[in-house]
Amino acid sequence: MVKSISLLGSTGSIGTQTLDCARQYNIDVASLSANRDYKKLAEQIIEFEPELACICQSEYLEPLKALLPANCPTEIVTGQEGMIKCATVSKADICVTAVVGASGIRPTYAAILAGKRIGLANKETLVAAGSFIMEAARLHNTEIIPVDSEHSAIFQCLMGENTKDISKLVLTASGGPFRGFTKEQLNNVTLEQALKHPNWSMGSKITIDSASMMNKGFEVIEAGHLFGVSVDDIEVLVHPQSIVHSMVKFTDGSIKAQLGVPDMHIPIQLALTYPDRMPTVSDYPDLTKGPLTFEHPDLDTFRCLDLAFKCYREGGTSCAILNAANEIAVSAFLHKEITFVGIPQVIEAALEHIPSVELTNLDTVETADRQAREYSARYIKEHF
Ligand code: MN
Repeated sequence: MVKSISLLGSTGSIGTQTLDCARQYNIDVASLSANRDYKKLAEQIIEFEPELACICQSEYLEPLKALLPANCPTEIVTGQEGMIKCATVSKADICVTAVVGASGIRPTYAAILAGKRIGLANKETLVAAGSFIMEAARLHNTEIIPVDSEHSAIFQCLMGENTKDISKLVLTASGGPFRGFTKEQLNNVTLEQALKHPNWSMGSKITIDSASMMNKGFEVIEAGHLFGVSVDDIEVLVHPQSIVHSMVKFTDGSIKAQLGVPDMHIPIQLALTYPDRMPTVSDYPDLTKGPLTFEHPDLDTFRCLDLAFKCYREGGTSCAILNAANEIAVSAFLHKEITFVGIPQVIEAALEHIPSVELTNLDTVETADRQAREYSARYIKEHF
C-alpha cells in the first residue's frame, strides 16, 4: 500500500473519492491540486494539511489564502508549474491524476520522470500522448495503475496472466442516456437529457462524453496503450446494468470478467493499495436482481465512438486532435452553443482540416492540440 499521495484534481468527483480512501486507510496527502474550486480546496487543505497545494487559476490565489488560517503550514502554488510541483513532491509515492482534459499530460509526464506510481484517472493523457507516455513509463520503470473502472477491471483480469494469451479485450459501456436512440431521435436531444447518466454520477464533461460514447472511444485508445494491444484486439459491448466492468478473452476460449457495483471507490482503492486489496464501504451487486445483458454498439448513430476507432488506427497526432476538438465541442454543447449531434460534426471537421503528424514529443502533441482547439472554435462560430 502507498504511504503518501499527490492528488491532481482534488475537488472533482474522482478527487474527492480518492480523499475518502486516504481518510479510510490513513494515507498521508502530500499535495493537492485544483483548477478553480478554491472553497473546496481550502477545506481539503485544512483537513489534510498537505505540504503543497496548487490552485491552477491564479486569480483564485488570494481568495484561497483568505480562507486558510494564518499558521497554515501548506505552501500554495499556481499554474501548470505549480501542478508539476505537486505531481513530483518528493514525499509522495503515487500521483493520482484526476484532472480533466489535456492539462493532465505535462504533470503526469513529470510524475513519471520522478519515479512515482501513477494512479491514472486522466484518460486524455493516454488518448493524446499515449505512445510517448507509455514509452517514458517503460524507460523509468513506472507503474501505471488505471483508475478508470473498465481499465481497472482489465488490469484485474490480467493479474497472473501472460499478455501473449490475450485474444481480445472487451470494454463494456453503459450506453448512456441515449442507448437505443435512432439518428433522428439524437437530433433533438437536450443538454438536460445528456447530463442524466443512468448509472454513474460523474463530472459534466465525462457525462457528456458518456452520452456521445466518446468516453468509450477514449477508453479504447487508453486500453490499447495501457495493455499494449492493437485496435483490432479491442471490442466494445454495451452492458446497460454497469455491473460487468470489462472482460478479457483468452486464446483458450476462456473469458474473465470483473464485476462490482458502479462505485469508483473500488478502482481507486486498488490503485492505492495494489497489490493488496482492502475493504471498502461498497456492497456487492445483487446478482439475483435481474439479467445482465450485452449488445453491440451502434457505430453509425454514435459517430464519436467510430471516430475514435479511426483515429487510433491512424495514429500520430490524430488522437490529440480528436481529444482537443472534443473538449471544445463538449464545452460549446454545455454552453448551449451547439447541438448534441454537432459534437461529432465539429470533431470530424477538425480531423479533416488538421493533418496528423508523427508523434515524436510533447511539443508535437501540444501543437496539434492548439491547432485543433483554434480550428474547432472557429468552426463553431461559423457553422452554429
Ligand atoms: Mn470508464
